[in-house]
Amino acid sequence: MRTGKVYLVGAGPGDEKLITVRGLECLKNADVIVYDRLANPRFLRFARPDAEFIYCGKFPKHHTLRQEAINELLVQKAQEGKRVVRLKGGDPSVFGRVGEEAEELAKHGVEYEIVPGITAGIAAPAYAGIPVTHRDYGTSFAIVTGHAKTADGKPVVDWASLSGIHTIAFYMGVKNLPHICKNLMKHGRKPQTPVVLISWGTLGRQKTVQGTLETIVREVNAADLKNPAITLVGDIVSIRDKIQWFERKPLFGRRILVARTGGEKGNLAEALTEQGADVIEYPYFAVCERDDETVQQTIERSGEYEHILFTSPESVDFFFAAYRRSNRDIRLLKARFYTLSQRTERKLREMGLHSERPSSLADREKVLVVGDVSVVERTESYEAEWGECDVLAVYEKKECMEYNVNMVRLLKDAGVDAIVFPSAASVPILIDALERREIDPLPFLSSKMLVCMGEKTADAVRSVGCGTVHVAAAPSIEDLMACLMQETIVN
Ligand code: SAH
Repeated sequence: MRTGKVYLVGAGPGDEKLITVRGLECLKNADVIVYDRLANPRFLRFARPDAEFIYCGKFPKHHTLRQEAINELLVQKAQEGKRVVRLKGGDPSVFGRVGEEAEELAKHGVEYEIVPGITAGIAAPAYAGIPVTHRDYGTSFAIVTGHAKTADGKPVVDWASLSGIHTIAFYMGVKNLPHICKNLMKHGRKPQTPVVLISWGTLGRQKTVQGTLETIVREVNAADLKNPAITLVGDIVSIRDKIQWFERKPLFGRRILVARTGGEKGNLAEALTEQGADVIEYPYFAVCERDDETVQQTIERSGEYEHILFTSPESVDFFFAAYRRSNRDIRLLKARFYTLSQRTERKLREMGLHSERPSSLADREKVLVVGDVSVVERTESYEAEWGECDVLAVYEKKECMEYNVNMVRLLKDAGVDAIVFPSAASVPILIDALERREIDPLPFLSSKMLVCMGEKTADAVRSVGCGTVHVAAAPSIEDLMACLMQETIVN
């Protein structure tokens, strides 16, 4: 049996791109992933579809796994020969209890690695426009917990020695903010010392409240800022006005749901994130190739077809992958190619292949329709439209359950102010996915700004009973951006 191993991985502070290359590599190879609230659930989609997920944070109706139980679980899974990733927010060594977990693993002779991550106390300030050290403002930086497991939850801090440190990042300190400010002033900090609280740092949901030791408690209460947040104290905070960058992005503060139909790479989501938006892609499907006898036999006979219709970009990828595996010469394919969308058309064009829309299918010779498993049940409707058809399912879409369940939690938690529908097909898929997670689709959609790529998509949204629909002038990222920026809905 393979010997198991545990990777104690820092997921970074929030923005999924801030995980390390090593961390992502571990995640992609893991058999088991143990994660908690602070590790961005978006990571789960990088995992293998057959990986086992274990959530150990607070969850409605679920109990929190206690630390001892987590330790035991890591040991047990590794002893079963599994590659286990324990994914933690930020850096595992910074208030991440990695020491306790590693000690337990060492005690049981289980092999492990610690993969560092970017800690929130440095990253959240950076995304708020504050470097934690600066030659002109401060040469020392401290990381301090603002919470402790004492009877009153107050941190055990040597306030006198802390008073000489220029910049201090308090973790878990929102509840004890009055206590922190009071003690800092009592031990020599000027009441005018700048303070900033940054919640959900590095994410589109980032919120920042700035003040001084004297005023910050009032301001944080007024802004209703909550955990997770970093409290940063020091003169360096004043530089923020000059070098702020993240919060100046055009879509900063916008929370956008991008409806999805498959497992395609989310270019749209990526572009919106790049502009500062907090993007949730939902629902998410893993795309699994099918390579059975039917696929092989149909590929063998594919040279006989005069017409081949590709129903999605993935159908192009998997058809030609199967074709290559069959070792046949590509020139044996003499069919004309048809596609239903620009994206699929582009996919073929990248391979130097021309395609047309099936409306030009006039002579009604037999068509081979290539797609996911749903093409089998749609055979009749294809035949009604294009005459005699054979269908070929070259892949299968499987719902990424763990990811989708977590995304709905985010949807409910963070709320979204806009929904982008990239295609007409994405409309019924989103509605179905909301219903299955007990969200009533119509009120949900009606309270958001609905943005559609193209008129056909807009019609699909209108047909489910949604009134105001925005349509991007052309199906491009630039037009979508322009559409989203027309009005800002704050909810
Ligand atoms: N290991 C983590 C810290 C875990 S303790 C790290 O290195 O970042 C949990 C605390 O981290 C939270 O209470 C909050 O103070 C801070 N934190 C984690 N993620 C954060 C984020 N995205 N923005 C602001 N603070 C965050």
